[in-house]
Amino acid sequence: MSISNLSHEQVKQLLAASHEAYQYSYVPYSRFPVGAAILTEPDAQGQRQIIKGCNIENASFGLAICAERVAITKAVSEGHRKFSAMAITAKHTAPCFCCGTCLQFIREFGAEIEIVFENPDGSVLHYKIGDMLPYAFTKDDLPEFAEEAG
Ligand SMILES: [Zn+2]
Repeated sequence: MSISNLSHEQVKQLLAASHEAYQYSYVPYSRFPVGAAILTEPDAQGQRQIIKGCNIENASFGLAICAERVAITKAVSEGHRKFSAMAITAKHTAPCFCCGTCLQFIREFGAEIEIVFENPDGSVLHYKIGDMLPYAFTKDDLPEFAEEAG
């Protein structure tokens, strides 16, 4: 567990946004709502945004998508590529750790992104995505595409 780079207020806001996000989860099969909230790095005006995601299931079970990937796809499709942190919470489980697919998906956008989880007693766990997935396949493994991936 690493030391957080976030302020107490940022952690509080991120966790609150992730709790808000799982209210919208579409989980008729698992009934396991998960929320994620990603904090963008400051833009040219110094403004940050929090973008939420919830898990979304499908009658074709393999098509289910996790909250983390929904948050990132929303953020990227709105022009964001630099992220400071992500909080992940679930309605019925704490802490709710990321699946392997999401670790890889988050790691695409940098090793330093801080991942925030909540314990049942409300205490908070902080990890760097690079520590959670230390041997990731990344754009560094594809040097001919590194510039385009930015
Ligand atoms: Zn996942």
